[in-house]
Amino acid sequence: MPVKLAEIRPQQDLDNLGIVALKKYVNEINKSYRALLQHEVIICPMCGNPESKKMFYINYNFPIFDNLYPICKSCCCKMAENRKKDSDPPNETVESVMQVLHMMNRPFIYSVYMNFCTGIDAPKTRNDTTPFRSYMRTVGSLPQYQRLTWKDSVFD
Ligand SMILES: [Zn+2]
Repeated sequence: MPVKLAEIRPQQDLDNLGIVALKKYVNEINKSYRALLQHEVIICPMCGNPESKKMFYINYNFPIFDNLYPICKSCCCKMAENRKKDSDPPNETVESVMQVLHMMNRPFIYSVYMNFCTGIDAPKTRNDTTPFRSYMRTVGSLPQYQRLTWKDSVFD
């Protein structure tokens, strides 16, 4: 769910605002601008949505935005799951997942990924998760994977 930022209004609109409404609008802009500068809100360059930090994957290979990968989780998942629209069903392949991990400079660990496809940890009937999402949760949270890069991939 994108974060709501102050809307850009046409100059003519501003000229017609009373002092109270203008003050309120300046406060809104001030709040939005501060959130952006302090990276409480990040605008994803892919979908253009302003999102809160928790909507971005932690990535120690990108020392910007407090180690967050700048493309939002939703866009990364869409690419890995071969979806054009949000409503399309996930259709991920090993290749599409590897492409996204390569782009993010994150490791592809075959055994870990396959465990989420067919192993004991495979997503059951839940449709809010896919092997890619489970994989990202695991390599993002377990210390042994957190700082690995694409170079550390294990393909068999
Ligand atoms: Zn996005």
